[in-house]
Amino acid sequence: MSTSKEQSRSALQLSSEEMRALGNDLVELLVEHFTTLRDKPVARNVSRFDLEERLREPPPLHGTNPHIMLRQLHDDILRNVAHSDHPRFFAFVPGPSNFISVIADVLTSGFNIDACTWLTASGPTEVELVVIDWLRQLCGLPVSSGGLLVSGGSMANLTALAVARHVMLKDCLTDAVIYCSDQTHSSVERGLRVLGFSPAQIRKLPSDADFRLPIDVLREVVIADRTSGKRPFCVVANAGTTNTGAVDPLDMLADFCAAQQLWFHVDGAYGAAAVLCERGRSILTGLDRADSLAFDPHKWLFQPFEIGCVLLRDGALLRDTFYHMPEYLKDSERDEAVNLSEYGIQLTRGSRALKLWLSLKTFGIEAFREAIERGFASAELTERILSTRPQWEIITPAQMGIITFRYLPKRRSVREVNECNQHIADEMLADGFAFLTATTLRGQRVLRMCTINPRTTADDIHMTIERLARIGNELDCNMSEGLVKPYREVVVLRS
Ligand SMILES: *Cc1c(COP(=O)(O)O)cnc(C)c1O
Repeated sequence: MSTSKEQSRSALQLSSEEMRALGNDLVELLVEHFTTLRDKPVARNVSRFDLEERLREPPPLHGTNPHIMLRQLHDDILRNVAHSDHPRFFAFVPGPSNFISVIADVLTSGFNIDACTWLTASGPTEVELVVIDWLRQLCGLPVSSGGLLVSGGSMANLTALAVARHVMLKDCLTDAVIYCSDQTHSSVERGLRVLGFSPAQIRKLPSDADFRLPIDVLREVVIADRTSGKRPFCVVANAGTTNTGAVDPLDMLADFCAAQQLWFHVDGAYGAAAVLCERGRSILTGLDRADSLAFDPHKWLFQPFEIGCVLLRDGALLRDTFYHMPEYLKDSERDEAVNLSEYGIQLTRGSRALKLWLSLKTFGIEAFREAIERGFASAELTERILSTRPQWEIITPAQMGIITFRYLPKRRSVREVNECNQHIADEMLADGFAFLTATTLRGQRVLRMCTINPRTTADDIHMTIERLARIGNELDCNMSEGLVKPYREVVVLRS
């Protein structure tokens, strides 16, 4: 018996009983995660030293019982994350996720799907074409549009910009210039660097009072660049900035790009999902005029990581840009067969479509619409509560599920106010009740909440603000008594 078991292990195999038993453990872990998450700390603070001690070891020559390994995976690894699906995770952009998509991801991995060609994965390929077409319709793009599922917004931006480079510049970068606002996500600049553009070719224009790309300035700069012999080729607009949820004037920018013959790329990685609801659709007027669009279902469409989507107004351009057929793949070419590896950078590619398909089919678009509306409502509730309390200042009002604000300690310098707000964010994280991050807007350190988790309740918001206020008050008192070190330094400097 023991020899046959060892033999099967050496083929990396389990018996059906073993698989069932482990499967039960797996389901228990997942159900426990989904049902008890809100009672747990949003994040745990563990040191590198601690984890080194627990996890660093030589390569394991011999195996261990998988039930024990699953337990360790849970205790030492999965517990030590900031739970982006926690209802009080307000930092960065949350990943609220959903259980149905988790199941699809498990199956996708279990069946080891390679969605690179029709031959290897006709079913998943068809599903990918279907969900991309659903996203296309929801965004109001024409039938000629197409797209690809990628790892996230960064890859969606990179892929779209590679198409823009190919179509607009014929892949020749000399004197080419691209425009965006200073609120544009860092992945755009990174993607451009990967594509070979130098920082001098990226014009990051100062955003206006509402953190939007100022079209008048844009017009002047483009014309000046043209006059001096440069080749303006693309404008990157934001459909919901990560910082404040600001939406650039998409419709006007689309007009401008059409008139100036510029590629119009819209980074909707965060905000594009809002087109599903009425309010979002009106804010995002002009989204349907993009030449290319980045859309991240692993953010506001509640999918587990990773799934991003790039949409092209002219879907054929993806294949024009990326298609180079290696000899040994020629076999996979069939009439009407779509080989998605020809539409992007990856050859072997997991199927990201199944989770989006299964969850959209299971819950229906209406449920998603309602879930997205909750994100708007939670940010607005936050704003209403804060605006009734004098110690808080709203910096940018609730827009697209994001609000920024700051605590105003009494009679303090600019620097002290900045430090105080950073401290509040740090203290809240250490406390574990909620997680929000600070961001810098025009030199002010401010608190920011992104409230797109549909499982966030009004109580969660109320209690989070209570705690923030308590932390702020305590800091304020300690500052007055000189108990907070950095502030005493400042006081000494000023006296
Ligand atoms: C999150 C985000 C990105 C990057 O997307 P990833 O999925 O993290 O690669 C790009 N742009 C915006 C506006 C985002 O919010």
